[in-house]
Amino acid sequence: MQTTYPDATTESINAALQEAHIAFLSYKNFSNKKKAEFLSAIADEIEALDQILVSTAMRETNLPEARIVNERGRTTGHCRMFATLVEEGSWVEARVDTALPNRMPAPKPDIRKMLVPIGPVVVFGAANFPLAYSTAGGDTISALAAGCPVIVKAHPAHPETSGLVAVAIKKAIEKCGLPGGVFQHLYGVGFQVGQSLVKHPLTKAVGFTGSLAGGKALFDLANQRPEPIPVFAEMSSINPVILLPESLSRNFEKTAASLAASITLGVGQFCTNPGLILAVEGTGLVKFMEFLGNEIQKAMPGTMLHQGIADNYAKKLAQALAQKGVTIEGQSSATGTTAQGKPLVASVLAESFIKNPTLAEEVFGPFSLIVKCKSLDELNTVANRMQGQLTASVFGEEGEISNCSSLMNVLVEKAGRLIINGVPTGVEVCPSMQHGGPFPATTDSRFSAVGTDAIRRFSRPVAFQNFPDSLLPDELKESNPLAIWRLYNGVWNKK
Ligand code: NAP
Repeated sequence: MQTTYPDATTESINAALQEAHIAFLSYKNFSNKKKAEFLSAIADEIEALDQILVSTAMRETNLPEARIVNERGRTTGHCRMFATLVEEGSWVEARVDTALPNRMPAPKPDIRKMLVPIGPVVVFGAANFPLAYSTAGGDTISALAAGCPVIVKAHPAHPETSGLVAVAIKKAIEKCGLPGGVFQHLYGVGFQVGQSLVKHPLTKAVGFTGSLAGGKALFDLANQRPEPIPVFAEMSSINPVILLPESLSRNFEKTAASLAASITLGVGQFCTNPGLILAVEGTGLVKFMEFLGNEIQKAMPGTMLHQGIADNYAKKLAQALAQKGVTIEGQSSATGTTAQGKPLVASVLAESFIKNPTLAEEVFGPFSLIVKCKSLDELNTVANRMQGQLTASVFGEEGEISNCSSLMNVLVEKAGRLIINGVPTGVEVCPSMQHGGPFPATTDSRFSAVGTDAIRRFSRPVAFQNFPDSLLPDELKESNPLAIWRLYNGVWNKK
């Protein structure tokens, strides 16, 4: 077992980027089939790590076996999902506008466009997903799928887990005969290593999951470079849950039970944790708060991912509870240790919430704040003032929701994923998933960090004008044997 993880030096960072750059020049041109084989081989090698990976991740993160096994399945699942996507080939969005030489008053040239890989990508491993959002996580695998080499900076909370997965990826590289610079793995505690990686001129994009302060600092750094580059940072979201009155008066018990489970899932350490509940005052809300308070009282504190996250939770929770008008509605009756996160729900009147931006900050852990509104109009005002979110949920009857069109209009502006009668935790990995939202949820709401669309972050469009067929990329050739959708003069054709 490796116990020390030396920080990358300026020399090793430079060497890693040089290697990545050289690897990029060949890797981007490898066939779709070859890239798909590589992604599938990564999944096989991760599975071959078997119990050693599970026990190491459990030891380093305090997460239970079932969660790690589930996360490993999600990780190998997205490797294979991207393998299928890349082999099929249509993700490049090939568009073919054939020439109209006799068009008047000027002839139209032949223009063909497709997405190409952006170049070497730096990925910061996430603390809260040691497998699915770290070394072979969604950022790494979608970048590799796009044809970009990746340099991972391991998260210091799980260096050994990260190292094991890095070896698995290296084995897949060897098995598939790819250049070693396609994937590299560096350690670095303190901000120096991460900042040097983002500033390096050969880095072309960054993937990050973590705090708002960290993501924003790296985003600003990337924008201050002589050549600014995109930073896809997933940072901070409190995932509002709106409880409409009619439904709440009928379903307060069921709604409270499902929200309690969602708030406490994984000790609240999910970016989709429901940190804010909005409802209109009345008997339904009173009964809901009583049930939710009881559920939370029965919930046990859980050991958090690392001491820093536990300390941060305690600090942010104390800060939220110290705000004017905030009342505790229920908290775990167990004592817990300083490494544990104690489940707690509190409430505040909407008028106090609106006046106090501190109450809208993410408290990363098993906490949720209920905002009591005097009317649906006031609830709309609160929703209007909210910052960008990954998700927004609405619990209500169909007719009740259709009467709230202005609220639904606001929510579309605020969040990347809207949910009816469901909690925000549990992110399906599929082509139609949107995991991203307006700032501060992410730095670029146009993209998703989960699902096949994640590949788009690490690509850029290039148009090829008047190219003879022999000089075009395969995807744009007339003779393209791939069965892909192509746009001919504004009409989509399956070729
Ligand atoms: P973090 O502090 O943002 O760190 C994540 C990674 O980014 C680490 O590798 C860290 O480097 C690096 N980093 C952070 N700030 C940097 C900077 N200014 N310059 C260069 N590198 C920087 O996140 P964390 O350690 O995972 O957790 C801390 C807090 O972040 C949590 O308590 C929680 O509030 C929040 N968080 C939110 C989410 C979410 O999904 N919303 C997920 C995880 C964490 P070092 O290792 O050197 O520090």
